[in-house]
Amino acid sequence: QTNTTLPELAAALLERDDFVICGHVSPDGDCIGSQLGLMHALRSLGKRAVCLLAKDEPIDVRLAFLPGADELAPAATYAGPASTFVAVDVPMRDRMNSAAARLLDACDFSVTVDHHAFDERMSDLAYVDPDTAATTMLVWELAGLMGAERGAELATCCYTGLVTDTGRFQYQNTDAAALAAGAAMVEAGADPAAVARHIFQNRSLPSVRLEALAVERMRFGAGGAYALSWVNRADFEDTGAVKADAEPIIDALRSLRGVRVACMLRDQGDSVRGSFRAKDGTDVAALARTMGGGGHKAAAGFTLPGSMDAAVERVSALLSDALDTGERGA
Ligand code: 5GP
Ligand code: MN
Ligand code: MN
Repeated sequence: QTNTTLPELAAALLERDDFVICGHVSPDGDCIGSQLGLMHALRSLGKRAVCLLAKDEPIDVRLAFLPGADELAPAATYAGPASTFVAVDVPMRDRMNSAAARLLDACDFSVTVDHHAFDERMSDLAYVDPDTAATTMLVWELAGLMGAERGAELATCCYTGLVTDTGRFQYQNTDAAALAAGAAMVEAGADPAAVARHIFQNRSLPSVRLEALAVERMRFGAGGAYALSWVNRADFEDTGAVKADAEPIIDALRSLRGVRVACMLRDQGDSVRGSFRAKDGTDVAALARTMGGGGHKAAAGFTLPGSMDAAVERVSALLSDALDTGERGA
C-alpha cells in the first residue's frame, strides 16, 4: 500500500501549510507520540498543525505528560480549517472512527505514515513500513528530511512511542535501527528515565487490582503454550479501573515461563475486545484476522460480538488449534 518514499513525503508536506493529524481509536503511546511529534515538527517550520482524537475518549493519563497533549481534541467537534489530513500509526478507516474518516474525506490532500501491514490504502500518499518498530521512528526521520527542528519536545514524543511499541526495547521488533533511533532521540533531549517514570512506574492502584483479578482467573492451554484471561464489566466497577488500566495486564501473562502466546479479553458490553501477544514465531495477526481483527505478527487485536463466555470458548479453541500441533519458532 506504500506508494511513496519518505523524502517524497517530506517534500509533499513542505508544500502545504494546514494540517490535521489523526491516529487510531484507543490511542497508545506510539499513536499519541507520532501525532504530537509531527505537530511539533510542522510547527517548527511555521505551519499550522492540530492533533485530533479519532474518537471522543479520554487518553491514557500516563501519556498526559507529553508536550502538547493538553491540546488534543476530538475529531467530531473540530471546526477549524483542514486542508491536509495526516494519518499516523493507523492503516485503515475502520481503526479511525467515522468522525475522523469524514475529516479525511473533507481534506483535499491526505497522507499516511504507518508501520502496520495492511492492503487498503486510504490516503493520496502512504508510506508504510512494517519493519519499522514504531511509527514515531518514521516521524523522527520525516522531521529530519523536512529540516524541522528536532528538539526535546519532538524527541520526547518520538522516544515515548518507540519505548512503548517495543515494550521497553524487549519485543521482537527491537533491532539496531530502533536502538539507534532511540539513542538519537536521547541525544536530542528525550529523558529515558523520566519517560519510564511517566509510563511504566506510574500504574494506578485500580490497574494493579484489575490485574490481580485477571491473574486469578488465568487459563492455560496447549500444554501451557498459551495463557488466556479476561476482565468483565463488574471488575471495572469493583476496582474503579478505567479502560486504559487493562492495557498492561497482558504483559503479566506473556511474562510467564513456557507461555508462547498470551491473550487478554475485555468485556465491552455487547462485544469483547481481544489482544494477542506472541513470544515465539506464531503469527498472531493471522489468528486475529480470522476474527476480523489484525495487527503485527507478534501483537494483534480483534473485536468479537457477543458474550465473554462465547469469546473465551472461541479463542481457546483457536489457540489450541494453532499451538497444539508441531513445534514452532524460537
Ligand atoms: P492492542 O492489543 O494493543 O490493542 O493491539 C495490538 C496491535 O494490533 C496494535 O498494533 C494494533 O494496531 C493492532 N490491532 C488491534 N486491534 C486491531 C483490530 O481490530 N484490527 C486491526 N487491523 N489491527 C488491530
Ligand atoms: Mn505503532
Ligand atoms: Mn498504535
